[in-house]
Order: sequence, then structure tokens, then C-alpha cells
Amino acid sequence: MFRKILFPTDFSEGAMRAIQRFNRDNQTEVGECVLLHVIDEGHLEDMIAGYAYIYRSEESEIKNIEKKLIEKAKKELEERAEKCKGMMKAKNLKIIVRIGIPHDEIVKVAEEENVSLILMPSHGKLGFSHEFLGSTTMRVLRKTKKPMLIIKTHKEE
Ligand code: ATP
Ligand code: MN
Repeated sequence: MFRKILFPTDFSEGAMRAIQRFNRDNQTEVGECVLLHVIDEGHLEDMIAGYAYIYRSEESEIKNIEKKLIEKAKKELEERAEKCKGMMKAKNLKIIVRIGIPHDEIVKVAEEENVSLILMPSHGKLGFSHEFLGSTTMRVLRKTKKPMLIIKTHKEE
């Protein structure tokens, strides 16, 4: 049995394909699945700067955008939660949303949650890719001390 698996998702097709293929081959149960989405702080800063410029908003309103984005991501994870739990044969499921640099947060959450495995697709975007791995998956692989299972999801050029 897998004790605890971290499954970071950007809501991409690649992420869903990874979990489907895991489901096809995995015959054991998973104690707990941690579903994680990271709101990219780089994108957030650009968005907030644009918003502040257009609407000349107060800082409190900007904080409100962060709250709304977190709520939206939580909802999207909740919508996928049951499906992911079933496909993983997971007994328990936990949802986490963070704001930060995606690969850094993935590595941190893996430590904090003391997971036994990180499951990721080779790429989030499907189709052809020149890259061996997507940038997030590559960076997590470089930085983490945890075991990783990377499922190939793209076609080679
Ligand atoms: P690139 O971003 O390098 O152009 P890509 O989007 O295809 O290419 P990655 O970003 O490495 O490739 O994405 C692969 C997987 O990494 C995603 O399917 C998801 O599992 C995880 N991931 C990427 N971004 C996030 C995020 N913001 N939050 C959680 N998981 C993420
Ligand atoms: Mn990406």
C-alpha cells in the first residue's frame, strides 16, 4: 500500500492523464492522497498590478482578489476530489491551496505533509514537446528528496 501520495495539479489534461494511468496500473490502496494547487505568485503579481492600474484599487480590494482566487482553486479541487479519490483508491483525501512559486511549494508541501511519494505527469500540456520534462516537474525532481513517480503524458517530437 502507498501510505501518502502528493498529487499536485494545475488542472491540465496532463495531470488528469497521469492519475488515469496510475489508476490503470495500481492495484493497491493509497492511505491518503493530498491534492495540491499552487497559485503562481508571478502571475498573481502581474494580474494585481494590472487590476490596480485599471481600477486604481485600494490594497484591501487587492487582498480580496487573493482570497477569491484561493476560494476558486479550492472549489475546483473539490470538484475533482471524489474522482481523484476513486481513481487513486485513496482512503482519505486532503485539499491544499497555496500561493507561491509552484515547484517550491510542491517540494515544501511534500516535506510538511511527510508524503511517501510525489505523483506527477511529465508534462501538463499535451501534444508534442521539445522538452524532456515540463518545467515544474523538472524542478520538483531536481529539488525534492522524496521518491517521485513521473508518468509520461506527451508525444516526442
Ligand atoms: P511548462 O509550464 O514548462 O511550459 P507544462 O505546463 O506542460 O510546461 P509543467 O508546468 O511541468 O509542464 O506541469 C506538469 C505538472 O506539474 C502539472 O500537470 C501539474 O501536475 C504540476 N503543476 C504545474 N503547475 C502547477 C501548479 N501551479 N500547481 C500545482 N501543480 C502544478
Ligand atoms: Mn506549466
